Amino acid sequence: MLIVKKFGGSSVADPERINNVADRCIEDYKKGHKVVVVLSAMGKTTDALLSKAQTINPNAPKREVDMLLATGEQTSVALMAMAVAAKGVPAISLNAFQVAMHTTSVYGDARFKRIDTERIYNELDSGRMVIITGFQGINRRDDLTTLGRGGSDTTAVALAAALRADACEIYTDVEGVYTADPRIVSKARKIKEITYDEMLELATLGAKVLHNRSVGLAKKYRVQLVVRSSLNREEGTIVKEVTDVEGMLVNGVAVDKNAARIAVLGVKNEPGIAFRIFDELAKHNINVDVILQSIGRDDTKDISFTVDQTQAKDAVACLRENQERLTIKTIKEEKNVAKLSVVGAGMQSNAGVAAKMFEALYDVGVNIRMIATSEIRITVLIDLEDVDVAMRAVHDKFFHD
Ligand code: ADP
Ligand code: ASP
Ligand code: MG
Repeated sequence: MLIVKKFGGSSVADPERINNVADRCIEDYKKGHKVVVVLSAMGKTTDALLSKAQTINPNAPKREVDMLLATGEQTSVALMAMAVAAKGVPAISLNAFQVAMHTTSVYGDARFKRIDTERIYNELDSGRMVIITGFQGINRRDDLTTLGRGGSDTTAVALAAALRADACEIYTDVEGVYTADPRIVSKARKIKEITYDEMLELATLGAKVLHNRSVGLAKKYRVQLVVRSSLNREEGTIVKEVTDVEGMLVNGVAVDKNAARIAVLGVKNEPGIAFRIFDELAKHNINVDVILQSIGRDDTKDISFTVDQTQAKDAVACLRENQERLTIKTIKEEKNVAKLSVVGAGMQSNAGVAAKMFEALYDVGVNIRMIATSEIRITVLIDLEDVDVAMRAVHDKFFHD
């Protein structure tokens, strides 16, 4: 079997954990499997590197930021290869350049285009365990790129797809995917199996246990994923196309604390204005999520929407540049908001999910600022300070015993 095993930052945070991961990988190697290991940077290394960059230059060129961040994963793979070698098993570490993992050019948000597999196969064939940097790639200028925070999961899935691996295992610091973040909701339950679509919604809406793009790739290339703990042997969660578990109304509750709300006030109440505003944002690669438009009064209306906090500055700048053309009187930006979502394919055929969610929020006195729905999710925008209370209340409403 060819197995891709990915370990996140906390799983390789110190030498003891690196040794623990080495032992687990060696177990599979000794069973005769071909083992490809994908690692994230140790512990909070990526955060530390980012704050160093911020101190030196708050507007650091994005190319140089990626050059810096890529060192985090490179440290992990080198140390891991040393740990494995010390245990008598041949291993080699490779970075994105050495493998040749080709991505688009966008620094900080690159996407895989193609992965060369020759070097990896050669190393595996000569009996080595291959340990590869997560989170990074190279673009057509041969510059290092990164895939966005949490991107190592995506590296693992992309490699599993490119190598046609028999298994792709994501090891982390919790025992699997839960009905809510187990660090916020103590009653959260581990989910045995979840579909790609549901996992994609959960990950996109804030459950960072998997990078959302890794789930999209897994669905596209039919890579079945297992999410489990690197610290114990408990069974994890399987992410796949169809699950045997029927009848779940809601699969999980997710929170995204990285949302920002932007309001454009007093725009002309005429056809084409919304198009012009969102077209301008799209041209600047700004992803908009929840949108709310007020009923027009007099000749004007207000539109508010949410974006990722990392894109808020760019969004406001792009609106300001075009303020006159877009007929905007005032632009407001607010960061102290969060998105709370319930996700589940079961809600397609069940009325009343929204009412139940809103009741849970009413019970704890949390005000809803905006609402958005799709076939399998309901999202509300609330104040950041309410988020933990709201998440527990909503979770307990759907998952009481
Ligand atoms: P890694 O470094 O292994 O990639 P992450 O910190 O990126 O780990 O993701 C794991 C974390 O995701 C957990 O510690 C947990 O707090 C958080 N999390 C959020 N939502 C969920 C969920 N629904 N199920 C499990 N974990 C979740
Ligand atoms: N080290 C990167 C990050 O902290 C990638 C990852 O952990 O997946 O975002
Ligand atoms: Mg992660």
